[in-house]
Amino acid sequence: MNIQNYINGQYVDPVNNKWLDNYCPANGEIYGQIPDSTKEDVEVAYIAARTAFSEWSNTTLDERNRVLLRISEDIEKNLDRLAEAESKDNGKPIWLAKAVDIPRAASNFRFFANAITQFASESHESVGQNAINYTLRQPIGVVGCISPWNLPLYLFTWKIAPAIAAGNCVVAKPSEITPMTAYLLGEICTNAGLPKGVLNIIHGLGNTAGQAIIEHPDIKAISFTGGTATGAHIARVAAPLFKKLSLELGGKNPNIIFADCDYEDMLDTTVRSSFANQGQICLCGSRIFIEEPIYEKFRADFVKRVKELKIGHPSDPGTKVGALVSKPHLEKVLSYVDIAKEEKGKILCGGKAVSLPDYENGYYMEPTIIEVKTDECRVNQEEIFGPIVTIMPFKTEQEVLEMANKVKYGLSSTVWTNDLKRTMRLTKELQAGIVWVNTWMLRDLRTPFGGVKDSGVGREGGFEALRFFTEPKNICIKY
Ligand code: NDP
Repeated sequence: MNIQNYINGQYVDPVNNKWLDNYCPANGEIYGQIPDSTKEDVEVAYIAARTAFSEWSNTTLDERNRVLLRISEDIEKNLDRLAEAESKDNGKPIWLAKAVDIPRAASNFRFFANAITQFASESHESVGQNAINYTLRQPIGVVGCISPWNLPLYLFTWKIAPAIAAGNCVVAKPSEITPMTAYLLGEICTNAGLPKGVLNIIHGLGNTAGQAIIEHPDIKAISFTGGTATGAHIARVAAPLFKKLSLELGGKNPNIIFADCDYEDMLDTTVRSSFANQGQICLCGSRIFIEEPIYEKFRADFVKRVKELKIGHPSDPGTKVGALVSKPHLEKVLSYVDIAKEEKGKILCGGKAVSLPDYENGYYMEPTIIEVKTDECRVNQEEIFGPIVTIMPFKTEQEVLEMANKVKYGLSSTVWTNDLKRTMRLTKELQAGIVWVNTWMLRDLRTPFGGVKDSGVGREGGFEALRFFTEPKNICIKY
């Protein structure tokens, strides 16, 4: 199946008529082609967006609310079709796409449809100077949204929904590895009555199509989710062009488990926070630190539970671990098993690629637990972004806090304890944009979302996203 760019409300071929193969991770087969778009396609998309801007930015909030709600409803109506497409493109179990990815994409539109109706700006009376200041929050114009392959429609819409709710027009690029649901979104937006040109979707490689978006002089804001190296490159390109940037980047998140926690709840959640989506979630807790008194018990129970996880075809409802997203990614993740062995890490379970009967060319891998002696090894410091976690014991709160913070990343942390004072101390001291206590990945879309250190700059979510996608202007009136 060939997919096309979505520009000015129409599906169109790329200007150069060049195409890239699209692979199905579950069986390794090519099942379609996508545009290998270039600067020319981005320019056509930019012109469509710029042309649509003056009308869209002047639609009433009521009208924007209605259109975004219709998109949300249409995503829900297409749940099965979108979940199947996401699973086929990404390798994730269909049930997961149906339970998480697609409902969340619908929620993103519903949330920002409503948030924009509540978004207000400040006014300041300059007492004694007979003046009043107020802040106009105006849409920026044409903005760029670039997203990764791990939660394709979920993260793509997390950017697009607030951008258009705030009155901007968008040139967006999904990862070239998982383009399918972004392609289907075009049709959904047209059917929901989104005016042509408000959203334009370009498919292609990061270093051509993506690069053309980030270096376009008139695309004045970029919201990017992806790897830290790509984020640094985007920052270098965007800085001299004075673009507004929101960068949601990699993570290497600690999962800190104290002996006083609710053990069964912690164990269930830790299996999920380690291996959900084959460990390919930026929020996965890939460094697990366990307080010494329960270390031996945890190690035995965790290994047992992880060995029971069924590795299978994404369409099998019993599958807990599906396929990794691509062959190069599988090879990268597997290379960390060799690194762990060189570093004297002990492989407690997993560590190998899996050949599934009938799907021998799929990109499957066993969920893997590595016991490490020190937190200062590569498997414990570098983002692997696959089904590999490390475990190690700790003795004191101070020791574990130091290890938790001693990485270049700072996206999320999880703490398992029932001690209130310890909770208060740790949540303040952990260097992370998000700290979960006795839970993981519980999301409320009103909260600020993002990371510190090499995990990014800026926050998305709630009014933070609407602030990002608007330019504040101070108006001062003397009377
Ligand atoms: P990449 O950084 O490789 O790619 C992300 C997106 O950027 C893709 O659409 C990619 O296109 C595009 N891109 C690549 N190069 C450029 C460029 N020069 N200019 C513009 N765009 C470019 O990340 P992955 O897709 O591999 O995603 C995995 C990473 O994303 C992990 O590090 C993960 O932690 C992070 N992530 C962060 C999250 C957060 O909220 N903090 C959430 C989810 C993931 P293409 O794929 O076509 O090359």
